Amino acid sequence: MTESTAPASNNFIAKIIQEDLDAGRVSSVVTRFPPEPNGYLHVGHAKSVCLNFGVAEQFGGACNLRFDDTNPEKESQEFINAIKDDITWLGFNWAGEIHYASDYFEQLHDWAVELIKTGKAYVCDLNAEQAREYRGTLTEAGKNSPFRDRSVEENLDLFARMRAGEFDEGAKVLRAKIDMASPNMNLRDPIMYRIRKVHHHQTGDKWCIYPTYDFTHGQSDAIEGITHSVCTLEFEDHKPLYNWFIENLPVPAQPKQYEFGRLNLDYTVTSKRKLKALVDEQVVSGWDDPRMPTISGMRRRGFTPSSIRTFCDMIGVTRSDGMVDVAMLEHAVRSDLNQNAPRAMAVLKPLKVVIENLAEDHKELLSAPFHPELDLGTRDIPFTRELLIDQDDFKEEYSKKFKKKFTPGNRIRLRFSYVLECTGYEKDDAGNVTLVRANLIENTLGLDPEDGNKPKGVVHWVSATECKEAELRQYSRLFTSATPDKEEGDFMEHVNKDSLEVITAYIEPALAAVDAEANFQFEREGYYVADRFDHTADKPTFNLTIGLREDKSLTQG
Ligand code: ATP
Ligand code: MG
Repeated sequence: MTESTAPASNNFIAKIIQEDLDAGRVSSVVTRFPPEPNGYLHVGHAKSVCLNFGVAEQFGGACNLRFDDTNPEKESQEFINAIKDDITWLGFNWAGEIHYASDYFEQLHDWAVELIKTGKAYVCDLNAEQAREYRGTLTEAGKNSPFRDRSVEENLDLFARMRAGEFDEGAKVLRAKIDMASPNMNLRDPIMYRIRKVHHHQTGDKWCIYPTYDFTHGQSDAIEGITHSVCTLEFEDHKPLYNWFIENLPVPAQPKQYEFGRLNLDYTVTSKRKLKALVDEQVVSGWDDPRMPTISGMRRRGFTPSSIRTFCDMIGVTRSDGMVDVAMLEHAVRSDLNQNAPRAMAVLKPLKVVIENLAEDHKELLSAPFHPELDLGTRDIPFTRELLIDQDDFKEEYSKKFKKKFTPGNRIRLRFSYVLECTGYEKDDAGNVTLVRANLIENTLGLDPEDGNKPKGVVHWVSATECKEAELRQYSRLFTSATPDKEEGDFMEHVNKDSLEVITAYIEPALAAVDAEANFQFEREGYYVADRFDHTADKPTFNLTIGLREDKSLTQG
C-alpha cells in the first residue's frame, strides 16, 4: 500500500477501501468524479469532489475527472470549463487527461451490438406513452413489448439504421432484454440507446443515437479501471442494472458501486435545474453570482477553498440524506477568515470629524500591520485633519452605554492612531448630525494620554480627503425559507427580494490597490473580498463574504 500524505478520513467509504486494500481485492484505488456538464458545480458536488479526490489522495491512488456527457442538448463547453476551474480551485488534481463518456461511444456501440447478438438487447418501437403503460408500476409487473422477440438479424439491421439516421427521434430505442416483471423497475428492459439528432460538444455530428446514463456509466468505470465507483443514494436502485451490464459484457475490469447521502443545505437549493432557473429568470446575475451555492458563486463571495474543504470534512459521509445547517458552512468560512484574512478599515455610513487643533494641510502617514498575529506586512494609512467615522460611533449625549463612542467631552482612540476628544457637533435642519468636532490629544500615538484620562473605545476611520470610494455589495441569504423547495408553491416564491444591497463605502487607499479575490476583514464591519471580475484600482469593488458574528436573527424565524 502506498503512503498517504492527506489527513486520514475515517468515513465508511474510506473503511471499505482500506479493507479492500488489506484483503488484496484491489492493489490500488481508482475513483472518479463524473459531473454532467449541464450546469455549474454546487456545494453538493463539492462534497462528492472532496470524497472522491480525498480518498484517492488518502490511499495514494488516483481520481479521474470524467464528463458524463450523454445528453448533448443540455450540455456545453462553458460548463466543462467552469467545472474544471472549480475543481482546480478547490485544490484537487485529476489523474492524467480529462475523460469524457463520449470517448467511449464507439466501444459502447460495439458492446450494444454484442448484446443484440447474444439476444440480450432489442430494438423497440413503442412510443413514450405506450412504453410507460407496458412498464407497469411499483406494485404491478410490466408487460413484454410486442417487439421483444425480434430476431437478432432484424435487431442488428434496425440498430444499424438507427445509427445511420434513418428514423425520427422517438421512433425507436434499443432496450436491454432483462425482466419486465422485476420488482426493480430499472431492470424492466431499460433503454440503452435513444435517437437524438443533435450536435454534441465533443463528438460533433458523428452520432445521432446516444447511450443512456445506465448503459454508459458502469462500462466507462470498467474501461478506466475504476475500483470504487462512488455515487449518491438515488443510484442504489440502479446498481443491479450497473452490475448486469458488467456481468453480460466483456469489460476489462469489474468496478463496484457504493452510495452515500447527498448534501442538502438549508436556505439553499442544490438542484441544477433550480439553479438554472434562477440564472435564466435573472434572479441572480449568473451561475457565479455571489449568492449562488455554486462553487464559482462561493468563490466570488469570498469563501476560501480550505473553508469549503473543512466544511465537507465536518459534515462527514454517511448513508443518509440529511439537512445540514448553512450556519455550519458559514462557521467554516468565518473561522478560516478570522485566522487568515488581513485587516483593513472601511467606513460604510460616513460621518465627518474635523480635528480642530490640526493644521488644514496636516497629512501624516501612519503604519499599521495587516494582521494582529500573522506576519502579513503593514500598510500606510494617511491621517489628516478631516476624517470619516461611522455614524453609529457618535451619540449626542453621553451615557454609560455609549462610553465607547464619540460624545461631547468623551475620549476615543482612532484605530492605529491618536486619541481624540470630542468637543462638539453640528446638525442639519432635519436634525441629522452632519459633523463632529474634536481635538487631538498630543503624544497618544501608541501611548495613553499623559493626564491619565484613558479612552474607553477604539473606532475605525479613514481620512476624508485621502480615502477612496468603493462599491460594496452587501449580500444576505437568497431564500427567506429554510426549505425553499419543500414549501407549498414554487421555490421561486421564497426568493429574498432584498438579498443584495449596493452601497458606497470609504476605504483606506491601500485597499484600492489590492488584487482581485483578496480577502479582508473590514474591522468591526465584516469579511469582504475584492470582486473577482469587477474590482480595479479605479473602481474598487468588494463583496460581503460574511458578517463578523453569526446573526441569530437569521435562523430564529
Ligand atoms: P443535480 O441533481 O443538481 O442536477 P446531478 O446529480 O444530476 O445534480 P451530476 O453532474 O450528475 O449532477 O453529479 C456529479 C456527481 O456529484 C454525482 O456523482 C452526484 O451523485 C454528485 N452529487 C450531485 N449532487 C450532490 C449532492 N447534493 N450531494 C452530494 N453529491 C452530489
Ligand atoms: Mg446526474
